[in-house]
Amino acid sequence: MLAELACFEQHCRARFPIDEAIYNCPTCGTGLLEVVFTEERADAPAWKQLWRSRRTSNDTLEQSGVWRYRELLPFDGHHHQVVTLREGNTPMLDAPRAARYGGLDHLTFKHQGFNPTGSFKDNGMTCGVTQAVRLDRQRVACVSTGNTSASMAAYASAAGLDSIVFIPHGNISYGKLAQALEYGARTLQVEANFDQILALVRVLAERLGIYLLNSINPFRIEGQKAIIFEMLDQRDWNPPDWIVLPGGNLGNTSAFGKALRELCQFGFIRKLPRLAVIQAEGAAPFYEFMQKKGKFRSIPEPRTLATAIRIGDPVSWPKALHEITVTNGIVEKVSEQEIADAKAIIGQCGIGSEPASAATLAGIRKLTQAGVIQADQDVVAVLTGNVLKDPDYVYKYHTGQLQDPDGRAIDARLGNRPVVVPNDADAIAKILEG
Ligand SMILES: *Cc1c(COP(=O)(O)O)cnc(C)c1O
Repeated sequence: MLAELACFEQHCRARFPIDEAIYNCPTCGTGLLEVVFTEERADAPAWKQLWRSRRTSNDTLEQSGVWRYRELLPFDGHHHQVVTLREGNTPMLDAPRAARYGGLDHLTFKHQGFNPTGSFKDNGMTCGVTQAVRLDRQRVACVSTGNTSASMAAYASAAGLDSIVFIPHGNISYGKLAQALEYGARTLQVEANFDQILALVRVLAERLGIYLLNSINPFRIEGQKAIIFEMLDQRDWNPPDWIVLPGGNLGNTSAFGKALRELCQFGFIRKLPRLAVIQAEGAAPFYEFMQKKGKFRSIPEPRTLATAIRIGDPVSWPKALHEITVTNGIVEKVSEQEIADAKAIIGQCGIGSEPASAATLAGIRKLTQAGVIQADQDVVAVLTGNVLKDPDYVYKYHTGQLQDPDGRAIDARLGNRPVVVPNDADAIAKILEG
């Protein structure tokens, strides 16, 4: 659809052309930007059929689980510039063991770890990098605790662009850093935390004309809407009662809410699912804010082993607040031990995920115990990243060596140690039968 950029602040709502490279509202100076459609000619029944039929096509655009839904994305007239690695197309997986653990009769995971670079960042990055091409930019950059840089590096290289990745020194999982290096990003490790580096990069982007692809970028949010479009397409447009996701910078929360609102507005669904956002205890500024409201307070030194959600100053919180309000959603927080155990349960389902993703199941368990989510409700949890993103965490948990950020041991309640055995069939048989 044809679209413009709009300031998200209700007192401002200034509009800008869709091809202006801005990250905050130039009119009020602070507001986040969002994409708004300038036409309202959706034909929900016809588009549902069209989108379904595209799944059997061998055409590049149709094979992407993002661009298949391009009628609800702001790239009309620019589809020839799309940069895609066939992102999306992620499965809905039933997980009875996880359901029992979470106190539910039934639970489905939508696993975004099946994406080309192993996280949902690909859903957004295909749109973000396509926008960079549309704006004729040669250089893109982001600050990232890992998955954003892995994804940006891949899409930038696929498009022949130069990518610059800024990462906090130390504190990054090797799986993710390895991807950024392998995909050819110039990788700069800065002695500062995520939030400090973001401020630095915004100055550099301005000065050097680099296109910024952090989650503040409204086009990434547009691409991440397709996670919801695809989920509902896979459910024959039957909305669940709850959609549960981890919250870090809260870009995904913003994207999910926007997608659901648009689907309602254009007549694809009649009921809004409730969003449940789960944060890690040591990095839960949005949770704290929702408890007390008042002023939003960032956390100077966020702490969690779930590095993908170790964010103290989430840029998208005003959008997330709106989406939680509109969907009658909820925000919960979980401990490091709860995340670690939930993650092992997801592994035991044959599914696996990175730590941040497992916050969903830990949160579901807490919310069913509190009576907020009922056992017989229809729940979809979004697993955001692949288990191989952070093998160090996995190995340490299963061998009882994992420690939380304060150095306290995490109990390997569901640990699964490798066993050293002699080269002797009798001895091994004895162990296996014992
Ligand atoms: C980025 C990321 C998150 C957090 O998403 P936000 O949009 O920043 O809230 C959660 N899990 C994984 C695996 C991620 O890569």
